[in-house]
Amino acid sequence: MTTTLEATREGGTVRFPFDNSYARLPDRFRARLDPTPVAAPRLLKVNAALAERLGLDPAALASPEGVQILAGNRVPEGAEPLAAAYAGHQFGGFSPQLGDGRAILLGEVIAPDGARFDLQLKGSGRTPFSRSGDGRAAVGPVLREYLVSEAMAALGVPTTRALAAVSTGQAVMRETPLPGAVLARVASSHIRVGTFQFFAARRDVEALQVLADHAIARHYPEAAGAPSPARALLEGVVARQGALVARWMLIGFIHGVMNTDNTSISGETIDYGPCAFLDAYDPATVFSSIDHGGRYAYGNQPGIMQWNLARLAEALLPLLAEDEEAAVAVAQEALAGYAPAFEAAYLGGLRAKIGLPGERAGDHALAGELLKAMAENGADFTLAFRRLCRAAESEAGDEAVRALFADPAAYDAWASRWRGRLAEAGGDAAVRAAAMRAVNPAVIPRNHLVEAALEAAVRRDDLGPFEALLASVTRPFEDQPGADVVPGAPETPYMTFCGT
Ligand code: AMP
Ligand code: MG
Repeated sequence: MTTTLEATREGGTVRFPFDNSYARLPDRFRARLDPTPVAAPRLLKVNAALAERLGLDPAALASPEGVQILAGNRVPEGAEPLAAAYAGHQFGGFSPQLGDGRAILLGEVIAPDGARFDLQLKGSGRTPFSRSGDGRAAVGPVLREYLVSEAMAALGVPTTRALAAVSTGQAVMRETPLPGAVLARVASSHIRVGTFQFFAARRDVEALQVLADHAIARHYPEAAGAPSPARALLEGVVARQGALVARWMLIGFIHGVMNTDNTSISGETIDYGPCAFLDAYDPATVFSSIDHGGRYAYGNQPGIMQWNLARLAEALLPLLAEDEEAAVAVAQEALAGYAPAFEAAYLGGLRAKIGLPGERAGDHALAGELLKAMAENGADFTLAFRRLCRAAESEAGDEAVRALFADPAAYDAWASRWRGRLAEAGGDAAVRAAAMRAVNPAVIPRNHLVEAALEAAVRRDDLGPFEALLASVTRPFEDQPGADVVPGAPETPYMTFCGT
């Protein structure tokens, strides 16, 4: 008897409205191959709301045939599965060849409103880009990406989304054997800074041009009519990534592995690995077990993104001008847009978090003083801003905020300056507090809750805590029972693991 490892293609009834523009790019952009089937797929979760957004039938996705598709055992009609080629700087060192080592792009789904989305299976088996990896993913990291990416979407942060998670019935070997899973992920595209670097490293200017045209058509259509479309593309990515990192900073999100291959061209948060949220506010916070130097610490993220964008600019040099000197000048001008884009979004966001209308000299200093006091006093980032919403309505709210500071007097000194500024601004206190509650989440995916949810799923096959946490973090701006509690110090420092 021979076992077949080929995915089934015949006779399916579950339909996806595919139109696969990336598959039409030249051969050297990717390897064509089907996902590798798994032993015993079982649905862990399907995202019904996202399915409907895409024009897919959630019941069909959850059906036995749907689960076969989500696991990679069946290739649906119209799919043109491929693994994309890319390169990237990992922790500062360049790898000319990375690529989808454990992911397969099934195709691009055209939603009812015409929007185009990549549908990718992550953990779907080995590809020509797997190097020494097994091409697989474990249940824990798959559910972490599911939870955190859906929380980010609910927080209003541009991000890839989770359409479904299935367990495979197969173990993956990590430090110990772990249950395997496949994540079905949706993105506006999976084009990365590293995709441009792949062709730049090969001096393949023709492919760079094809990729730039493709990225412009998908993500920056207005750039097509610019005097220099490549420059407009670079400026567009710079602006979106500046705004994106500002959003991360404003909610205490740490990506954890901001390599250039994990930096999207569309401006979405992508490749959730060792990501986590701050509890106590400390810019030096690092959770990732592999980030020994703290390169991707919370407070380093804006600077790292600028560095990543400089790598994109380098890759685009051949498209920016005829001679290199002129191209470098263009690249530098485009990169100069980063700091203003980040600062406008970050400082505007901070003003909104503390309820300041309009913009006055001294606002940024006022917000900065609060952050400094929080850092010096170990204040919980999420709770401090959420409780401040009530303090904006009435001084009766002060006690709850000051209780978050090791030295509550540090808050008092700040609060009196803040109240002075609010009084000058005037306006209705209840309206101000409501606006603050719309930007300061009550609920984030707390590390200890994420850990407990993954642990229950992995060790006890109990998805209850995952479901409960998902329901909670996808309503982040609602006050919820039990959410207004400072998490206790963990027995061991929280640590997240990458690529597992
Ligand atoms: P990351 O930084 O985790 O997004 O991944 C870096 C590179 O390693 C990418 O090319 C991934 O496709 C690849 N990779 C990560 N984990 C695996 C795995 N288990 N098997 C094969 N390739 C992997
Ligand atoms: Mg990656």
